[in-house]
Amino acid sequence: MRRRLVAGNWKMNGSFAMTSALAGDVAGGKPDGVDVAVCPPFPYLAAAAAALEGSAVALGAQDLSRHASGAHTGEVSGAMLADAGCSLVLVGHSERRHDLGEDDALVAAKFLAAAAAGLTPVLCVGETLDEREAGDTRAVVIRQLDAVFRASEAHGTGIPDLVLAYEPVWAIGTGRTASPEQAQEVHALLRSRLSEAGVDAAATRILYGGSVKADNAPALFAMDDIDGGLIGGASLESEPFLAICRAAGG
Ligand code: PEP
Repeated sequence: MRRRLVAGNWKMNGSFAMTSALAGDVAGGKPDGVDVAVCPPFPYLAAAAAALEGSAVALGAQDLSRHASGAHTGEVSGAMLADAGCSLVLVGHSERRHDLGEDDALVAAKFLAAAAAGLTPVLCVGETLDEREAGDTRAVVIRQLDAVFRASEAHGTGIPDLVLAYEPVWAIGTGRTASPEQAQEVHALLRSRLSEAGVDAAATRILYGGSVKADNAPALFAMDDIDGGLIGGASLESEPFLAICRAAGG
């Protein structure tokens, strides 16, 4: 049985004071029986690492460079994230795909860079509303997933351990969540594609993200192939976030 994971994506929010308080509260309130991670912005990673020290809450970052080091002004490498205490990193979040133009090839390169640095990539996939309405959901998420498999093959490495996050773009930050059945359908598809690609699909966690709150989390987490959540807005305060963690731990 897969142990559920709940990861908080703070996006571009916070301050040193907020980071220490929120990470400290999450560390203190983490329920047993579920893995929990927080992903603050880059400048606050070290402060979050300090607040999480001695706890079982993992630290993640929201993005990384495709490059390992060198003349790439403004970029942050996977090795730097590992050095700062991260064990995982989001890759291909829809806000980066859509607001910053990250395409499948760049996302795949970042995915490989994360694995090369010893970080677990949390690969985000998901369709826009137009794509869903055009009946293209399956094609879009499989294309996004296959891009990292192809890159792993071309690179001569096997597919590294990963976490997948299905995040329909139309559900992120909108208050409109996919129904448990809609999410389950896509999660099952992703799991079968993982299996076809030779990944240990039964052991790979597939998170759902998109307006998850304490009240809709139990129904989502009750679905067979939903192994936890990637939480944006509701991760910015400890009590709502911990309520979602408790829903996943039960
Ligand atoms: C996210 O940032 O990945 C996300 C799912 O945001 P929200 O929970 O606010 O929809």
